[in-house]
Amino acid sequence: MSTTPEPTWRCSTCGFQLRAAAPPEICPMCRQKCEFVDVSCYIPGCGGPGGTDPRLK
Ligand SMILES: [Zn+2]
Repeated sequence: MSTTPEPTWRCSTCGFQLRAAAPPEICPMCRQKCEFVDVSCYIPGCGGPGGTDPRLK
């Protein structure tokens, strides 16, 4: 049984990363509304599913 990995989100303000189905409205690190970018990667080059895309770091 395989589950679809949840996307990885990164706070564009502090760089905090978390994996969730949807980005949080409030960044747990910044404790304010931050812009979360999807840095999840689905190709083997950057760790495969569940990894993060190095180009977005
Ligand atoms: Zn943040």
